Amino acid sequence: MRAIPEPPIFELGSPEIPGFPLVESCPAVDAASLPFAIRDDALGGWSQVNEIDVVRHYTRLSTLNFDINRGMYPLGSCTMKHNPLLNERVAGDAHFAHCHPYWPAPYLSAHREVMCELARDLAEVSGFDEVSIQPAAGAQGELTAVFMMKAWLESKGHAHKKVMLIPDTAHGTNPASAAMAGFTCKQIASGPDGWLRLEDVLPHLGDDIAGIMVTNPNTLGIYERDFTAIADAIHKAGGLVYMDGANFNAIMGVFQPGKIGADVMHFNLHKTFTTPHGGGGPGSGPIGYNSHLAPFAPSIPGGKSIGRMKAYFGQWGMFIRAWCYIRALGGEGLHQASLDAILNANYLRKGLEGVLHLPYTTPTLHEVVFTDKHFPNGFMTLDLAKRIIDHGFHPPTTYFPIMVKGAIMIEPTETEPRRELDRFIEAVKRVVAEMASEPDTVKRAPHTTPVRRLDETRAARQLELRWRPHAAQA
Ligand SMILES: *Cc1c(COP(=O)(O)O)cnc(C)c1O
Repeated sequence: MRAIPEPPIFELGSPEIPGFPLVESCPAVDAASLPFAIRDDALGGWSQVNEIDVVRHYTRLSTLNFDINRGMYPLGSCTMKHNPLLNERVAGDAHFAHCHPYWPAPYLSAHREVMCELARDLAEVSGFDEVSIQPAAGAQGELTAVFMMKAWLESKGHAHKKVMLIPDTAHGTNPASAAMAGFTCKQIASGPDGWLRLEDVLPHLGDDIAGIMVTNPNTLGIYERDFTAIADAIHKAGGLVYMDGANFNAIMGVFQPGKIGADVMHFNLHKTFTTPHGGGGPGSGPIGYNSHLAPFAPSIPGGKSIGRMKAYFGQWGMFIRAWCYIRALGGEGLHQASLDAILNANYLRKGLEGVLHLPYTTPTLHEVVFTDKHFPNGFMTLDLAKRIIDHGFHPPTTYFPIMVKGAIMIEPTETEPRRELDRFIEAVKRVVAEMASEPDTVKRAPHTTPVRRLDETRAARQLELRWRPHAAQA
């Protein structure tokens, strides 16, 4: 087998294949007037391939990756749920798919209505006074939020408040965003039951406290039961409360962060609201905030606004899909989606409790974290992740949250039918049994993928992003 079963398109081409001689075929066209990108002289060095070669090449490439349309993708923290085809149908409408921000205003009235309704709906479900849909991803929503927190502190004459508290259950993007905005991060350990205790926060509340960033439910899937008490204490210390809302899928219609202590929160439309994600985007990370932060919200530069975070309207293609999903489900449906997400995760938790080691017995919501502690023969989380691929599943999230040694983080989402959950439980049981009975099979897994165990560290450090002719490669 080749290391990579599909050659790059540059290797498929041949000078004997004529392609389509654009200028010769259209003598009326003045070559110099064509956009440079499609002029024959701009295409020098490009691969000459038949249309069928192109179609087959990309179709074959599209089958090499695992995707949610192929099977269950229980990647904890990422909420890889089914993206309803209805969303795609509506987003594919020419009026929506081909719109441009420079269209005359009357042509954009429907788009504006969709964006206003989306912002209103997000505000309603989260309990915040206002929503900005500008940020392009969850992490950019965080950054927008901490910029706004900083502007608010400065407006109060509290520029000296620089310390941002962040529990050890936080996503890595939280401290990154806070540091980029100029805050100093201070990590707080969560309690023995996996949630952050008020008593562990209080000793940190000096005059230098800018605020806290709390993921709720946290990255263990556990509800932060001291959330409101902690928020009150932070507010009393003159700080602000940021809630990481990436796990909003667990709480729609259950509780409203804007009403129980959070000042600002980001959403991930590409997690909770079924806009596609993976492969690096596009995403969308709107933020909800209460009225005291409204003057600082992203806008055209000027006044107290922190300025623009994204050109034009933001990620329009995601807005229309999320809007469609919310319209299709309604408030009741969103609430049911969260209840089902919690039910599915707890069904898996129950089914796997005796098979994998459960480090926290505290009740969990939409995801559950196990560990590799009881695997036979010294096998580790990575081995389960690799072998489960042969059984037709994407691996769960591994080694995250980092506070849990050998973490295996599973989030099935509400869109998996019970039959699939049962299949997954059976597959995990089989892999753990194989660790004892066929250790070699597990050690060399996966056996069914185009590539096997890769040196991921080296791949990340020595990125090979550009194809060069063989002569130049040598
Ligand atoms: C996914 C996630 C983020 C970041 O969102 P992106 O859209 O990937 O930038 C932040 N916090 C948590 C808890 C997440 O799961």
